Amino acid sequence: MNDLQTLKGLGPKRREALLQAGITTLEDLLNHLPKGYLFAQEPTPIARVTVGEACVEGIVQAAPTLSYFGGRSMVRARVMDASDSISLTWFNQPWMAKQLLKGQRITLYGLAQRRQNALNLLNPQIIHDKGIIPQYAPLPGLPGKVFSSFVLQALDKVAISTKESLPDSFLREHRLISRYQAWQSSHQPRNMEDLAQARRRLGFENLLLYQLAIRQAGPQGQAGPKLVNAKATAEDFWTKLPFAPTGAQRNTLSQIAQDMGTGQALRRLVQGDVGSGKTAVAFGAAVCAISNGYQCALMAPTELLARQHHENAQKMLSPFGITCGLLTGSMKAAQRREALEGIADGSWQLVIGTHALISKDVRYHRLGLAITDEQHRFGVRQRQTLADRADHLVPHILALSATPIPRSLALVLYGDLQVSIMDELPPGRTPVKTRIVPQGKRDDLYQYIRTKALEGEQSYLVCPLIEDDEEADQEKQSAVALFHQLSKGPLKGIGMALTYGSQTEAEKEQALGEFYAGTAKVLVSTTVIEVGMDVPNATTMVIEDAENFGLAQLHQLRGRVGRGQKESWCFLLGEANERLSTLAKTNDGFEIAQKDLELRGPGEFLGTRQHGRMLNDFGVNDMKLIEETSACLMDLENNPVNKATYNLLSSLARDRYSHKLDQVGLH
Ligand code: ADP
Ligand code: MG
Repeated sequence: MNDLQTLKGLGPKRREALLQAGITTLEDLLNHLPKGYLFAQEPTPIARVTVGEACVEGIVQAAPTLSYFGGRSMVRARVMDASDSISLTWFNQPWMAKQLLKGQRITLYGLAQRRQNALNLLNPQIIHDKGIIPQYAPLPGLPGKVFSSFVLQALDKVAISTKESLPDSFLREHRLISRYQAWQSSHQPRNMEDLAQARRRLGFENLLLYQLAIRQAGPQGQAGPKLVNAKATAEDFWTKLPFAPTGAQRNTLSQIAQDMGTGQALRRLVQGDVGSGKTAVAFGAAVCAISNGYQCALMAPTELLARQHHENAQKMLSPFGITCGLLTGSMKAAQRREALEGIADGSWQLVIGTHALISKDVRYHRLGLAITDEQHRFGVRQRQTLADRADHLVPHILALSATPIPRSLALVLYGDLQVSIMDELPPGRTPVKTRIVPQGKRDDLYQYIRTKALEGEQSYLVCPLIEDDEEADQEKQSAVALFHQLSKGPLKGIGMALTYGSQTEAEKEQALGEFYAGTAKVLVSTTVIEVGMDVPNATTMVIEDAENFGLAQLHQLRGRVGRGQKESWCFLLGEANERLSTLAKTNDGFEIAQKDLELRGPGEFLGTRQHGRMLNDFGVNDMKLIEETSACLMDLENNPVNKATYNLLSSLARDRYSHKLDQVGLH
């Protein structure tokens, strides 16, 4: 029987926890794969433990302590062996306080971290068995242990009744094991070989179905607004700008204009490195749509970016007599009412805004083109939702992204879009020079910034990224601390501004406004500036503890400088490693992305974003499997022999994933 109700130990609370995680059937439970495996090794003597994963065995020295701060719990304890002792910390696992008894001998496996000069084992697991132990991401309200007991029960219960999802011939053709076998080996692996087969089978199925679902979310070939004269309008657009377009900009806009003239709805993603000038291309497309009597909407992931676009649009589009307006979430009621009217009666031809653009009360007026900027920050569904707001029309869809990704990965993420690549920067830019700077040289760096500030040039100082949720507040703390330290010390007397994610909109606006205006010469910030800030007079970027950032993110941050004629520098504070050296060697976003992908695999590469999480949930961190499934998808679509299989898999895909496409991708 395929029902969670049959699970022993499932009360209403735990049932709710499963529902929250999207688990409604025993099959869902089995499809919830371990986030990793623990290969229980021989314990290391505590004295020999170093930073990183560690397995230790020892005696609990005292009863654990449980404390709460800001709604979070922390359990602390200490174990000792013949060689030394080590402290243990669990965040948000209050039940751990009851799991340990003084004097008990236990084996633990966790991440050893250095804290105030002593090692600490973070969130360690108590190990009972040897062998390969599945690790489940804890669900809120459901300890990992309980979860694994549910999974084992589910394995028992579905054994007989579960049917294979894929046709036999398909399994043979792609060398895939049966679904039940794969579940068994994922949740109770006997050896590495079994595990690899299981992951391949489930990853293959998940990836393939997900890609099918995305493609169905936005089918190609729907009828859309047929624009007349779009190509000529696009050419004319460039002549009215203060700069000549790059070849890549001209080609991309020309392609877009052509597509919009066919009578089919455009569905295109423009991928271009930071600074390649995607905004102008988007405005060009907007002019084409608007001159045909359609409205155009441009959605950006942050308020700052939306404002910046609005200002630029007013400047760039004034020669065309286009009216544009801004709609954001922080607007006052009266302002908002005015905006909604302007949008509904069509007096706003170009509507720029944040997520507010997809809120229910916005009525568009002949919306013919829906643009999302920084698409990698949005979910698939949000992009589609914007388009769906158009009445009686299937508008053209244009998505812009500065996260360059290889084509095979693009198929997984943006399977419903065609991709244009803008691989050229506007002329006259001096490439940013990048240096890795050891911590010891920090003071020299501040002197350099001071000198630059006195010469009138501006600098960004980006504080370390803190991944750990428990310590999210530290991100802000370290920015605040750095700001005070510098403004009292090395940068005394220099105009400085400070910004971080949890500031109010007004505070943010004030800080960024000072930097835009140039009264602040130095902007200390957390990574909030990653997306889209454009201050040509800023020529220095300093990234603290650069080792902690992903390559793509470092590249995005670096892209904030080198936007004017003056020579720009990016300083990466930290020890040289392969990532930082790659960055120091090249400015080419695609090369950097490729390297990042090699170093980290696709799941990590996409990180905490929607798709990264999704790949991690699928247990996929393997480009080969992605390529294989993309090829399989092409084959299914293009080869008439596969029609029946294609139809079968498509309906499976709809059932399994169409409701998941609306998960939000912001981080
Ligand atoms: P991104 O692709 O990162 O969104 P933007 O559209 O913000 O890049 O463009 C970056 C900067 O380059 C802007 O200040 C823009 O006005 C300028 N720019 C865009 N295209 C050109 C061009 N062809 N020549 C000179 N400057 C350009
Ligand atoms: Mg941009």
